[in-house]
Amino acid sequence: MQQVYDLIIIGGGPGGIGAAVEAKVLGIESILMIEKGDNHSQTIRKFYKDNKRVDKDYKGVVIELVGSVDFSDGTKESTLNYFDSLLDNDEIDTAFNAEVESVIKDNNIFRIVTSNAGYTAKNVIVAIGTMGKPNKPSYKIPPSIKERVNFNLDKCIGGEKILLVGGGNSAAEYAIELSKTNIVTLNYRQTKFTRLNEVNEKTLLEYNGQEKLRLRLGTDILSLENENGLVKVEFNDGYYTIYERVVYAIGGTTPVDFLRKCGITFDDKLMPIFDENYESEQKGLYLAGDIAVKSGGSIAMALSHAHHIINHILKNK
Ligand SMILES: Cc1cc2nc3c(=O)[nH]c(=O)nc-3n(C[C@H](O)[C@H](O)[C@H](O)COP(=O)(O)OP(=O)(O)OC[C@H]3O[C@@H](n4cnc5c(N)ncnc54)[C@H](O)[C@@H]3O)c2cc1C
Repeated sequence: MQQVYDLIIIGGGPGGIGAAVEAKVLGIESILMIEKGDNHSQTIRKFYKDNKRVDKDYKGVVIELVGSVDFSDGTKESTLNYFDSLLDNDEIDTAFNAEVESVIKDNNIFRIVTSNAGYTAKNVIVAIGTMGKPNKPSYKIPPSIKERVNFNLDKCIGGEKILLVGGGNSAAEYAIELSKTNIVTLNYRQTKFTRLNEVNEKTLLEYNGQEKLRLRLGTDILSLENENGLVKVEFNDGYYTIYERVVYAIGGTTPVDFLRKCGITFDDKLMPIFDENYESEQKGLYLAGDIAVKSGGSIAMALSHAHHIINHILKNK
């Protein structure tokens, strides 16, 4: 007979870890956290630059944390270390390198299908974030320059002339970091930044004034082309520039198809449907973290969802 877990959590980011820890501390007996990457917190590992400052009240949104996870301001590294220690201390059962493909409800039991195994559970929390599918521009990226067009900093090499695209804190932080070793332009289609925290905005303006980087605001990109193996970027102000690399930092997308395969329903704006307890229309199936907010999710918000959901599961036991 296959074990029926009390709770299976899909996704080992802040939402998933928060749920696993709360569940363990509050006495839910059998819990499994399934993560597709080879370690937890793939969004933090892949998209945060090294030594990135991590704000608890991200983008100025203050979250009062209640529960067992005592997350506070730090860096990428201190945040990952903290999550490591939570998973180790609470001895959370994990399945890494396991991508969930679907969740099927059958006689009040959920069957969770991964690429290489199957599990069953009484309750399921889906906390898969949105960065598995980073947003892409609407124009074509020619395959011949795909290697030079990226969505994080992994492939950037010191000395390259790089165009950063985006107007949020991620784009700003990438541009500030890269400007220490590269020739950087930050392109944002609006004429002003409206979503930056004070520090990032001040640094960007200062760096622009000191010509450590260039801000190209109020212009949009029309197309990318291959120019002798480099990226020719055509802007809508009539000019073009050749870059060695283009990095888009324009957020992520809700993985609608996957969530549908888990039995989650959507409204006409393609927002997943769930109630005040983050429970979907399939009773016992919850959404936490970035996939449960329209925009502007944060680590603290994901932890707070997790706390709320675990308390709701316990109340209904
Ligand atoms: C560049 C950048 C900087 C940021 N800076 C901050 C900051 O300073 N402070 C802050 O509070 N927030 C910050 N954020 C936002 C924060 O990272 C997110 O709000 C938070 O990570 C959301 O947590 P989550 O658990 O919902 O999803 P995620 O962190 O995205 O975790 C989802 C996990 O699910 C896994 N997964 C996905 N699909 C599957 C599947 N099918 N099967 C199994 N596993 C799956 C993924 O591999 C991943 O590990 C930043 C985001 C970015 C991109």
